[in-house]
Amino acid sequence: MTSLADLPIRDDLRGLTPYGAPQKQVRIRLNVNENTHPIPEDVAISIVESLAASIRTVNRYPDREFTALRDSLAHYLGHGLTRDNLWAANGSNEVLQQLLQAFGGPGRSVLGFPPTYSMHSIIAAGTGTRWISGLRDDDFAISPETAVRWIHDQQPDIVFFCSPNNPTGTPLHLDTIVAAYEATNGMVVVDEAYAEFAPAGQPTALTLLEGRPRLVVSRTMSKAFAFAGARVGYLAADPAVADALRLVRLPYHLSALTQAAAIAALAHTREMLAMVDDIKAQRDRLLVELPKLGYIAHDSWANFVLFSGVADPHAVFERLLADDIIIRDLNIPGSLRVTAGTEDETTAFLEAMARISALDRIGA
Ligand SMILES: *Cc1c(COP(=O)(O)O)cnc(C)c1O
Repeated sequence: MTSLADLPIRDDLRGLTPYGAPQKQVRIRLNVNENTHPIPEDVAISIVESLAASIRTVNRYPDREFTALRDSLAHYLGHGLTRDNLWAANGSNEVLQQLLQAFGGPGRSVLGFPPTYSMHSIIAAGTGTRWISGLRDDDFAISPETAVRWIHDQQPDIVFFCSPNNPTGTPLHLDTIVAAYEATNGMVVVDEAYAEFAPAGQPTALTLLEGRPRLVVSRTMSKAFAFAGARVGYLAADPAVADALRLVRLPYHLSALTQAAAIAALAHTREMLAMVDDIKAQRDRLLVELPKLGYIAHDSWANFVLFSGVADPHAVFERLLADDIIIRDLNIPGSLRVTAGTEDETTAFLEAMARISALDRIGA
């Protein structure tokens, strides 16, 4: 048997572990922050019609510039953005990879602030970009002073923020983004994968784009739009950023089917996002109920909650799994992360936790 170590793989990839959130056949899956509500039937039919039309011309390469999709995304985001400000790829992970291909790479570095989205450092490794771990303040916040200090000390080529932050749910104040931008000549990327779950009326980093050509805001249809399986992520930035990504993207990277599905879904934005308020209500329920079981629930603007004070996270994870419920153990000491599901799923999780928390205390 050949093993990875026998292959002439790049030295800087030796010994690394791939992204590995477990994919298990479990009844209640609250482990990867998916939107657990299926998309509405009439929207599904509309998407299927759009796919059916598109398959008829699949002998041809798709629109390499995905113009109609960029129009739809610009219309969805508002803030005066046009198609020239938009770029999309197969998930925001691919968007982030393209950003690191264009602005990072060997000899360059990216600063991030763990605990944060694990793919940020994995994509850095894959593109040969040196990853720098900054330290957060208390309660996982990042003050403008903290961000500026890390930037001055480390001089990164790229700064990655995640707002709200996965896996902690912590929002990031726009002051921090502005201060970071002013402290660097490099790119500042704000991953807003969960922006739609923020409290109503909160400003997003999109409001900062005007006049800041090195600022990038990445978004995804995977979470709020319940489109994780379709793989559609996008960014908004100065048009020059899209020109940079055109240098590294593969031609025709967004299939005709992906484009057709995403455009059809965006035409039903209101229905597609109808579940977001429900999910926010379930998240708020987790924030209220977990403390009643003796845990610390970290404030979250996303569709998940990180809770701490767990005596034995691994044992709690396994006990939930025995109840056909999967959540996420991210190796953050004393902590676990749970996605806000449907009302029934959230109830099942909380009921199981009510039983398990007693054992967790005894174990402690
Ligand atoms: C889920 C998630 C994404 C989404 O990635 P896709 O490739 O768009 O599915 C991006 N960033 C963060 C922080 C996430 O948690």
